[in-house]
Amino acid sequence: MIERFRSFFGGIHPAYRKELSATLPSEVLPLPEQVVLPLLQHIGMPAEAVVSVGDLVRTGQMIGRAAGRVSAPVHATLSGTVTAIATLPHPSGREVRSVVIRSDGLDQWLPLSGHDDPHQVPVDTVRQMVQEAGLAGLGGASFPTHVKLDPPVGKAVRTLIVNGVECEPYLTADHRLMLEEPRRVVDGARLVARVLGVERVLFGIEDNKPDAIQALAAAIQAVGGARGFGVPVSVGELPTKYPQGGEKQLITVLTGLEVPSGGLPIDVGVVVHNVGTCAAVFDAVRFGKPLVERIVTVTGEGLHRPGNARVRLGTPARVLVEHFGGTVGRVGKVVFGGPMMGAAQFSLEVPVIKGTSGILVIPHDAIDSGDIRPCIRCSACIEVCPIGLLPNMISVCTEVRAFAESERYHPFDCIECGCCSYVCPSYRPLVQMIRFAKTEVQASRSAQTKH
Ligand code: SF4
Ligand code: SF4
Repeated sequence: MIERFRSFFGGIHPAYRKELSATLPSEVLPLPEQVVLPLLQHIGMPAEAVVSVGDLVRTGQMIGRAAGRVSAPVHATLSGTVTAIATLPHPSGREVRSVVIRSDGLDQWLPLSGHDDPHQVPVDTVRQMVQEAGLAGLGGASFPTHVKLDPPVGKAVRTLIVNGVECEPYLTADHRLMLEEPRRVVDGARLVARVLGVERVLFGIEDNKPDAIQALAAAIQAVGGARGFGVPVSVGELPTKYPQGGEKQLITVLTGLEVPSGGLPIDVGVVVHNVGTCAAVFDAVRFGKPLVERIVTVTGEGLHRPGNARVRLGTPARVLVEHFGGTVGRVGKVVFGGPMMGAAQFSLEVPVIKGTSGILVIPHDAIDSGDIRPCIRCSACIEVCPIGLLPNMISVCTEVRAFAESERYHPFDCIECGCCSYVCPSYRPLVQMIRFAKTEVQASRSAQTKH
């Protein structure tokens, strides 16, 4: 059932530092005094508030209604009083309309209604329950899960990949979930596989997590293996290399298929779901439970006591940092996510949202910020790019504002993994320059469409 796979082209081996938190069981964080729940915690349209200031709400109650198909509802993550609905800082760096709830300290839940045997529930009901539970990918991309469970007509899904790679340095939230609750992950994956009608299920995990590989293999055995899934199922043990967890890399390594330029996994008959998302799918159908909490890794050399915690969504980062003993010395950066793809924060009042896998505290003296210099054409960025792009050329185009020219180098295929920036000896902010090129090209395309 466990198969060993070869690696993908390109990539890097950064210092992983997962040992800071990998062996530490996830703690249950005490309820915060208040939560800040952005109405946009997913890709797509923000939810629309359905509560008003002064309303009393219960845990699990919908406070934001989905505003279209590519949208997701938002639920109260504790019981209490709505004290504000305002535009507030969001982990993305933007300001987003958010609902603030002050806790009554009681955590009174709305009654939940699930199914004793979720594997007998009709597929349309599963999709509906997942939509109503407000699920969005917990791996970080945060695409509304119900949309990925309902592929477009004419697009057959043959393979479900369950992503337990967690290749970002420092992060161990998925690792802890796979160790602590492998059966939830496996039962959720069974539901997803049945809804999509796939022909096979492949779990992907890096070989730096041998205990998680064993835990998932045992849980798959416990449900009867292929009999329990209704289709062949296996666990892929993958060489540890960043960004192994990128969808395109994972698909190529596990199936040999290449997602075409500008295409999606579904174009090659594959759908990828994160292990945390699968566990949340199970909760939605078995218990009727909306997405109100997740595991977050709180770590870094700038933190007194790294660890993992089960956290109510909307909890400010400050509460987590304080729970883990506060910061040590001068802090350089606080990042939501990992060091490669995470987003630096300006305030510790920013809340944990559905896609927050970790909070990383980096000491000031660990930040290697040399002066940005011209490209010396060393080709290091090209050698590590897992997509096979020419990051140096896109960056040069951006520098001279030749955005139309940059399109020749396919900036939209960039997955923003950061490998190129990581190796550049000239400290060129290649990812930011590629992102800028994408924004400008997109703006120019939109302007042309209007005229
Ligand atoms: S790694 Fe930096 S210096 Fe080297 S080719 Fe790429 S952009 Fe130029
Ligand atoms: S160009 Fe994009 S995909 Fe390639 S290494 Fe850089 S960030 Fe990653």
